[in-house]
Amino acid sequence: SDKKAVVLVPGKINPRVLERLEGKVEIVTAPAGAEPVLPAGAAERINAIAVSGAVNAKWIDALPKLEIIANFGVGYDGVDAKHAATRGIVVTNTPDVLNDEVADTTIALLINTVRRLYQAETWLRDGKWVGEGPFALSPFSLRGRKVGLFGMGRIGQEIAKRLEPFKVEIGYYTRSKRDELSYTYYASLKEMAEAVDTLICIVPGTPETHKAINADILTALGPEGVFINVGRGSSVDEDALLEALKSGALGAAGLDVFYAEPKVPEAFLSLPNVSLLPHVASASIPTRNAMADLVADNILGWFRDGKVLTPVPETPVKE
Ligand code: NDP
Repeated sequence: SDKKAVVLVPGKINPRVLERLEGKVEIVTAPAGAEPVLPAGAAERINAIAVSGAVNAKWIDALPKLEIIANFGVGYDGVDAKHAATRGIVVTNTPDVLNDEVADTTIALLINTVRRLYQAETWLRDGKWVGEGPFALSPFSLRGRKVGLFGMGRIGQEIAKRLEPFKVEIGYYTRSKRDELSYTYYASLKEMAEAVDTLICIVPGTPETHKAINADILTALGPEGVFINVGRGSSVDEDALLEALKSGALGAAGLDVFYAEPKVPEAFLSLPNVSLLPHVASASIPTRNAMADLVADNILGWFRDGKVLTPVPETPVKE
């Protein structure tokens, strides 16, 4: 048909998404927020949402002709996919195209955290190498560590592969064991935290994983323990993490994600044993371009022939 689909973009999105859609659909923009605020007459016309952020039930229910929500990012905890499913609306995400980038960043964050490379570089940049001498030895090392992954999906497996040449022991906890993998499987997060000294969180943000990393888990990692989070901030009890880092119950932490990002608790900033990144695990131009293409291709495929490349499991599309 010659009638173009109308695509709503709430808040900001990677500009390549808009470039790819331009001329093929009609774009409507709106401010991001808990309540939908739309241009007059737009609500009844919108067929799709392209989003890097949140789409709650209120947004979904405000749009009677909505057919598809294309999320920019593999993690779609901001989109109420269960509610979308009840209305027959398809939700898509951007899996796989970011696996390698996120896994690379995870290794960098782990080494940065353990060897304090950010502080070391700051030492040099501040002229202290000349003025005060060599930078302090890092209290920790990756040598001899036992690493446990909380999550062994698409990204977790790439992280594990990258850890192999580092000569560390590798284990994981997920709800279901993956028999094809040779890594040590633990039947619970607690059991794994007791057995390892380094925990990497790469699970989705769900009600089940909410604050799963609590004082109990962090204490089990111990004073030499290292916690790395590249999954979602919602999986961590941040007060417990701060307390454990301050008291020395936990050795160090490297965080790419936070509970209420972009807000980061002040208390983290003054701790010497943390490495903090502003949610950049997938944030390279090439990888973000691939994610943008997948968002656009899901939308264009849907309106061309009812096919999407990457629906989420809550809203499967039958061939
Ligand atoms: P997958 O769906 O491929 O893997 C998810 C893994 O988590 C599986 O191994 C799954 O195993 C496990 N898991 C899920 N729920 C639970 C639970 N309740 N308890 C234990 N294990 C659980 O996802 P991806 O690897 O593609 O991505 C993982 C997440 O990483 C994303 O959802 C996103 O939130 C985050 N992410 C963060 C990025 C960043 O910029 N920092 C970038 C990209 C992703 P099982 O089902 O057997 O339990």
